[in-house]
Amino acid sequence: MKDVDREAGGTPALQMTDFIRDLKQYLLQMVQEGAKTVYLSSEGKESLERFLQKGGELSRRAVEQESSRAIRGGVRSLRELEEVMRKCHKCPLGEDRLNLVFGEGNEEAEVVFVGEAPGADEDEQGRPFVGRAGQLLRKIIRAMGYEPEEVYIANILKCRPPMNRDPLPEETERCFPYLSAQLKLIKPKVIVALGKHAAHALLGVKTPITKLRGNWARFQGIPVMPTFHPSYLLRNMGGKKEVWDDMQEVLKVLGRTPKKHGS
Ligand code: SF4
Repeated sequence: MKDVDREAGGTPALQMTDFIRDLKQYLLQMVQEGAKTVYLSSEGKESLERFLQKGGELSRRAVEQESSRAIRGGVRSLRELEEVMRKCHKCPLGEDRLNLVFGEGNEEAEVVFVGEAPGADEDEQGRPFVGRAGQLLRKIIRAMGYEPEEVYIANILKCRPPMNRDPLPEETERCFPYLSAQLKLIKPKVIVALGKHAAHALLGVKTPITKLRGNWARFQGIPVMPTFHPSYLLRNMGGKKEVWDDMQEVLKVLGRTPKKHGS
């Protein structure tokens, strides 16, 4: 029965809240366009507004319940998790996103690269690391001997912070359980934390990235290698050697040999 509900577009509660949301949008649009066919007394209008407000609250509650269930392990695939997250408004970033940036790559990747948050390009395309930093990350991945589709790439936050500012602690706190759920499903052998925000969120520390990088740590038993974020490398090419050293460590743990020196 649950599977049938999912195929039909979510649980009955979510279908109902989708309906309320669509009805609300439709009616508001009609009113804005000066439609003559919506006849409501002031009492009727007030009741409708109250009903829609309640519907909005119910909708949020249903989504929160669905996301808590997903986070607790109630979903069986990344696709199901993504479907739940598309409705997420657990933090204000959900209001302004163009696209949720869930993550992409091999669902059974042995290595997962975790960055901090989507930027403008990522928000527009709904894909992680698509700008210049992303090109550099994919170059590093290829130099390690992988095709980008063989690994998994994700961020701590799934929605873009305005003006590309740093993630706020409360945003990280709200969103991090989703990454944790992704990692539980992927079960990688190694996580590469790209930059201080990813390292701090995964390791629960505030140590500067210059001290963390190159040193193995663990997240839920999975080895984590913190290293510099590719966008830092674009501004400080001197950091490339350190990142390449860190990737060599990753390859050693994975029992692989690098193809060539990273560039
Ligand atoms: S950033 Fe994360 S917690 Fe905030 S709305 Fe987006 S998916 Fe939800």
